[in-house]
Amino acid sequence: MVPEHFDVLIMGAGLSGIDAAYHLQKFCPNKSYIILEQRERIGGTWDLFRYPGIRSDSDMLTMGYSFRPWTHPKAISPGDDIRDYIAGTAHDEGIDRNIRFQHEIKRASWSSQEAQWTVEAVRKSQHAPDEPVTLTCNFLFSCAGYYRYSAGYSPEFPNAGRFKGRMVHPQAWPEDLDYAGKRVVIIGSGATAVTLVPAMAKTAGHVTMVQRSPTYIISASEQDKIANWLRRVLPAMWAYRLGRWKNVGFMTYLYQLSQHFPNFVKKGLLKKVREQLGPDYDVETHFTPSYRPWEQRMCLVPDADMFQAIKADRASVVTDHIETFTEKGILLKSGKELEADVIVTATGLVMQAFGGVELAVDGLPVDPGKTLAYKGVMMSGVPNFASVFGYINASWTLKADLICNYVCRLLNFMDRKGVRQVTPKDRGESAAASFVEHFTPGYIQRALAGWPKQGSKSPWRVYQNYARDTISLKWKSVADGALDFSNPPQTSATPAFARTSPRSEAEPASLSRMG
Ligand SMILES: Cc1cc2nc3c(=O)[nH]c(=O)nc-3n(C[C@H](O)[C@H](O)[C@H](O)COP(=O)(O)OP(=O)(O)OC[C@H]3O[C@@H](n4cnc5c(N)ncnc54)[C@H](O)[C@@H]3O)c2cc1C
Repeated sequence: MVPEHFDVLIMGAGLSGIDAAYHLQKFCPNKSYIILEQRERIGGTWDLFRYPGIRSDSDMLTMGYSFRPWTHPKAISPGDDIRDYIAGTAHDEGIDRNIRFQHEIKRASWSSQEAQWTVEAVRKSQHAPDEPVTLTCNFLFSCAGYYRYSAGYSPEFPNAGRFKGRMVHPQAWPEDLDYAGKRVVIIGSGATAVTLVPAMAKTAGHVTMVQRSPTYIISASEQDKIANWLRRVLPAMWAYRLGRWKNVGFMTYLYQLSQHFPNFVKKGLLKKVREQLGPDYDVETHFTPSYRPWEQRMCLVPDADMFQAIKADRASVVTDHIETFTEKGILLKSGKELEADVIVTATGLVMQAFGGVELAVDGLPVDPGKTLAYKGVMMSGVPNFASVFGYINASWTLKADLICNYVCRLLNFMDRKGVRQVTPKDRGESAAASFVEHFTPGYIQRALAGWPKQGSKSPWRVYQNYARDTISLKWKSVADGALDFSNPPQTSATPAFARTSPRSEAEPASLSRMG
């Protein structure tokens, strides 16, 4: 049976997958596309995570789509509203008709002979065994996020099995968990932990956050007063655009200031924490990181909610190392024991490239760690493939929008030139840095070996800079010398087995080095 064929196959119906579909519909209206989504619903991250207080930690004026205004008064938004926004976009744009749910992509193999991908997936059902599904497409667009969905990261804690209470990971929050009046210990100090602390402290007996080392925490208003005022006096789209540029400008300024004057920014951040917690609080121990601002993502807390919970004595922070779990809780290296009814391991994610899909080009497996990232979008030696990886120092969507727009420009360029295949070729450029630079969180460091590398210069650099990316992805010419455009060596009139010509340009020369 001939598999069903689409011009573009999008992996994932999260924030980026819906963004990709919107751009295709608008800028490549003649292209057929399909979205394969392993889960039952739209939303990705914003549907998966259900822990108390789940919210954005960047503002929704920059995390919303460029084409759809964010109109809620809260700029730091609850997860439910973000999910509704993504699902609403899919519904209003008719994108939901093109999603096949419960389809997990396992493998994708590129054939230069046919200039197409063969994508193998399984259709999952609660009532029947998995069913294999095969599709083909001209262009494969990975919008599968950056982490493993099946389980989060859980380090091996000594004697964890001895603990008699309940242990939960935020990535698999149990619906039935009742923690009202109970003693809760949260292990971790990242965005998830600082979200959970004030949310659980509302009803828990007491919440203790245990961290090995502190993180920078910055408080901002949940509501963006200027954006809300702009919305009252201007049409929604104008107000949104102005608010968005204001926030892009502020984030860029803060990031650049942190890069150039880290000590000045550090002093300012810690001064704000001291103002929140008062002169008697030990800010030095619990809120003073050893690294420079933005070497790890900063944690945003809306209206200082975490500091309020600490001041009200509903929550506390302990900076120490875990010696062992006990029946009653956790014994720390300092000898202190934290008793708990519930322990939350907010210990992070397992990073995963391209939804864990095995890629192959002309029969050779692709090792992403041996490729170079082209503009942070494509991989050297891998034809007709793009993926979305957003910013680590700003909202994900800013880059997702640029990448989706770029992929449409690329597809339209290929149509105009009458070529079916595009392959980034590094032409001697070699790996100079990992995909994400100057960023030290454990979950990123653990995974980077398996991700594409950066070269030393453009277009092989992965910028964390919206202005530079706007120029590179939106305005620069598509044909920049690093992309190889070609057609399959055979026409359909010539059977593949009759081909005797030497290796053509369309075939990647060596996939052991990937281009
Ligand atoms: C708790 C949390 C909070 C965050 N907060 C922010 C924030 O405030 N601001 C910000 O900018 N970023 C934030 N992020 C990053 C966040 O992931 C992005 O905001 C955004 O959701 C990424 O969208 P995405 O569509 O690229 O990926 P995802 O949201 O991860 O969606 C990927 C989709 O692909 C599907 N998929 C994956 N593999 C396969 C496969 N093999 N086959 C079929 N389908 C597959 C998944 O099921 C999922 O639906 C946060 C992340 C987490 C985990």
